[in-house]
Amino acid sequence: MSESRPAGQHTVRRHNSALVLGAIAESPGISRAGVAARTGLTKATVSTLVDRLVSAALVRDAGPEHRAGPGRRGTSLSLSPTGPHGLGVEIAVDYIATCLVDLTGEVRWSQVREADNRDRPAGRVLARVGTAVRDALRHATELSITVGGIGVAVPGLVEASSGLLRRAPNLGWHNVDLPAELSKRTELPGVPVLVGNEANLAALAELRAGAPADFVHVSGEIGIGAGIVLGGELYDGTRGFGGELGHFPVSSRGPVCSCGARGCLERLAGQEAILTRAGAADPGALVERLEAGDRAASAAVRSAARWLGTALSSVLNLLDVPTVVLGGTYARLYPWLHEPLRAELQARVLSAPWASIEVRRSALGTEAAVRGAATSVLRSIVADPDTFIAARTA
Ligand SMILES: [Zn+2]
Repeated sequence: MSESRPAGQHTVRRHNSALVLGAIAESPGISRAGVAARTGLTKATVSTLVDRLVSAALVRDAGPEHRAGPGRRGTSLSLSPTGPHGLGVEIAVDYIATCLVDLTGEVRWSQVREADNRDRPAGRVLARVGTAVRDALRHATELSITVGGIGVAVPGLVEASSGLLRRAPNLGWHNVDLPAELSKRTELPGVPVLVGNEANLAALAELRAGAPADFVHVSGEIGIGAGIVLGGELYDGTRGFGGELGHFPVSSRGPVCSCGARGCLERLAGQEAILTRAGAADPGALVERLEAGDRAASAAVRSAARWLGTALSSVLNLLDVPTVVLGGTYARLYPWLHEPLRAELQARVLSAPWASIEVRRSALGTEAAVRGAATSVLRSIVADPDTFIAARTA
């Protein structure tokens, strides 16, 4: 929209619909009068817009608001659990996950399929992703769920402006146009496909699940990603490529990484490095051995914690973020990981003696990224409800 021309009627309505829906999303249970007070719109305008959002199933009008005192009672408005759902997809190196999440954040259905996606041609993995998405769509139909869009979490560099997956070192992929590929395989014309980095989407899901406004979420999988949230907003860099914690160089003589460099963090502290060092087949077996007090297993986790602390201390020294949230496999290993990690941070972060650092376990664990992917769709609908309504009625 050009700032120098007056806004047209549709542009004004689009802007105001987003204001109204945003107010309802922020304050579930709010009345029409409350929305008017919050947005500065007239009560009549709010009423018209709310009616339209209710008929599009974006808002639920739950009847009289619980409020003491005289006067006409307002009705209580909230995001509708029967409205559009986000279909979340996570393409990980060793699994494909899908889920359906409603506007209130409730997960209505989810599935995880183990898969060895490493260094497979993108077309073969995408065929599996297509099957998983079609399966999710079938469940949506059975549950009478409208899918408002597909959100995809990937372990790689996603260009914010185009949605293009520029590079995913652990998958061995370069320049994959995921929105086009998925639209082709799911035959859902008009359903938007949003793509994001898995660590960033996981951080957004953690924020929604109650993480503080400033934190670094570390997702420890085969790769290691960081999602940085500052002041309640994700910071992923100028072009969306930020947060590649796994490729922090921590040892100049370390092993060669999938990215081609030497001594990257994920080669020393990623899931595979821990499993190899512990001699465990998978994370489940590792946890069993840790619970049994196995020495090799706990030495492997302590070593990973020290390398992770080395890399994370740089992040904390640079950004002064008070909280680290451990997600993915690190959430499962938290009981054994957090003490040696905290000790390393305490020793390396300069402000640590007087500015405490909190290391906490993710509320969502390995589900964070797929949930964040589904939620990204819902965030975009709440930010621009008119586009969703127009697509539905087209
Ligand atoms: Zn690397």
